[in-house]
Amino acid sequence: KPRAEDGHALDYVNDGSTSGHEKYKDGNKCSNCAFWAGEVSGGWGGCRHPQFSDVLVNADGWCNTWVPGG
Ligand code: SF4
Repeated sequence: KPRAEDGHALDYVNDGSTSGHEKYKDGNKCSNCAFWAGEVSGGWGGCRHPQFSDVLVNADGWCNTWVPGG
């Protein structure tokens, strides 16, 4: 799968700390999100959310649907 680009969906960014989004909180990232499906390689992994079914997301990424888990 290709790697997601910033803005892929749901305000996604590959580095959550750069998002500037009002819902973003320090430490929230794909790798500790309930939708994270595990690393595939090099810090990129799967996301179970349907909006990201066709891409890999960054472990340090973030989108506005982040929920605790991971
Ligand atoms: Fe990352 Fe979670 Fe958004 Fe998927 S739903 S892109 S794992 S923050």
